[in-house]
Order: sequence, then C-alpha cells, then structure tokens
Amino acid sequence: MEIIDGKALAKNIRENLKKDIENLKENGIYPKLAVILVGNDKASQVYVRSKNKACAELGIDYEEILLDEKTTMDKLLKIIDELNERKDISGILLQSPIPEGLDINEAFRRISPSKDVDGFNPISIGKLCLNQDTFVSCTPYGIMKMFEAYNIDVKGKHAVIIGRSNIVGKPMSLILLNRDATITICHSKTKNLEEITKQADILIAAIGKKHFVTADMVKQGAVVIDVGINRTEAGIFGDVDFENVKNKTSYITPVPGGVGPMTVAMLMNNVVKAAKQAI
Ligand code: NAD
Repeated sequence: MEIIDGKALAKNIRENLKKDIENLKENGIYPKLAVILVGNDKASQVYVRSKNKACAELGIDYEEILLDEKTTMDKLLKIIDELNERKDISGILLQSPIPEGLDINEAFRRISPSKDVDGFNPISIGKLCLNQDTFVSCTPYGIMKMFEAYNIDVKGKHAVIIGRSNIVGKPMSLILLNRDATITICHSKTKNLEEITKQADILIAAIGKKHFVTADMVKQGAVVIDVGINRTEAGIFGDVDFENVKNKTSYITPVPGGVGPMTVAMLMNNVVKAAKQAI
C-alpha cells in the first residue's frame, strides 16, 4: 500500500509553474485570476483564501469580486461580461455555490471559454466529452496528474466513481473514458452500491459524506481516491474510512493532503495556460 502524497505533488507542480510564470513575465505577460464570490458561504470563503494564497505564492495577479447574497443575475452577468472583456484578466472563476435564485449554469455559460479556468462552461465540458484540448475542471485533472505521477495505468481498468456532480463525478468519468478506462458512475439512486464498488480497480469517492466508503466496499489491491471534504468539529474528514480501508488498497489518497492541494495546483496550471493562449 502506498499513500499518494498530493501535497508534495502539488508543491512540485507549483514550483514548475513558478518558472513558467517568471518566463512569461520576462516577456511582458502577467497571468491574472479573477475570482467572483457571491454570498457568505463559509466553505467557499476558505477555498477562495487558499486560491488567493496559491496565486500570491506563484506571482499570479489576483482580483476578488465580492458580491452580497442579494446580487441579481443581471448584475452577476454584467460583471462576468466586464471580466471577459478585460485584457489583463487571464482566467475567471465563479466560486460555487451561489445563492439560491441565481442560475449557476447560466453564469458558467457566460464565462468566456478562453478564460474558463474551472472548465465548467458547456463548451469546455463538450470539448472534454469529444476528447479535444480544453480547460479540464481542476479536481478531476488533479486526480489524473496523481495517476501519472504514480505510474497508475488506467487503460482497461474498471473505474467506479461514486458521485455524478458536474464539478467532479461527470468530468472525472469523461477523462477516464478518454484514457481508455471502463467507467461506472454511481449516485444516490444506485442499487446494490457495494456490489459495484467491490468490482472497482479504481474507486473514486466524491459524495460529501464522512467515511461513507468502508473496507467491505473495496476490492483487495484497488486504487482509492478520496475527493470528499467533510468539515466537522473534530477536523476535516474524507468520504473514505481511511484507517480501515488503506490496507486493502494498492494506492490511496489521504484527506487532508490528497486531492485538495492538487485541485488548487491545477487551477494555477489552468490560469497559466489561459495566459499563454491569450498571447
Ligand atoms: P455533490 O453534493 O454535488 O454531489 C454528491 C454526489 O454524491 C451526488 O451525485 C449524489 O448522487 C452522490 N451521493 C449522495 N449520497 C449517495 C449515496 N448514499 N450513495 C451513492 N451516491 C451518493 O458534491 P460534489 O460537489 O461533487 O462534492 C463531493 C465531495 O467532494 C464534497 O465533500 C466536496 O466538499 C468535495 N470536493 C472536494 C474537492 C477537492 O478539491 N478535494 C473539490 C470538489 C468537491
């Protein structure tokens, strides 16, 4: 069993990006991320802070647009339009969730595909579906980078993904399919979940329920990737019961220190990619 060190891997990616950014700046190109945060969601504030910190560390310019929860859809779209137009902005990120009553899909659709560093615009998702070059959403992209770094070959493997969200489960399934894995997506209405997860060579948990995946759901020797971030008073926990599952696995990611840092690193990667493409 090997624990996949997402923190170390992310640091490595950031260090390589730093060199890239220095080169860009020498050529007068200054990558810049604009983050829009609507409302007072506590977890979102934590995520936004970590994105700001990563930008500062790498020398990526950063602008935060804070909007109150009463913001109208018209205002949000107008702000996105302005950011789309601005030459100094390389990438735009709309932090989800946004308050009820606002249509997040319409907002994602409005972000220019050339600045869509989160990969949530339907054009980005469509390109991913067609296996064309695009901005890949950061969490699934980070997981693929983990597979590459640890020489985990996904070709022909049965990958079971628990969770079908637009930001994790669905794009994850498309990337794995593009890399020749066989995919099963499970969700809250799936019957006999345990029978399916036990067949997984690669099991990816993106549910949002602390320790949902137990040892009896995992095949001996499986690769287990834990996307979950469940905040409790006792700390942050994943969707996988790490202590009891780990000895059955060939590779497993911890929480914290697994998928989370990779997500932020891939966002930085996408901002640099956007800045290069804008040249
Ligand atoms: P979501 O709430 O949008 O989706 C959860 C999914 O789990 C749904 O598709 C649902 O059908 C499925 N599900 C719920 N109960 C289930 C059950 N009993 N059996 C099978 N499936 C079930 O969540 P999300 O946005 O995809 O996030 C999932 C988790 O990953 C959360 O804990 C979130 O905080 C975390 N997350 C982490 C990162 C990271 O960078 N590490 C990034 C995004 C999300």
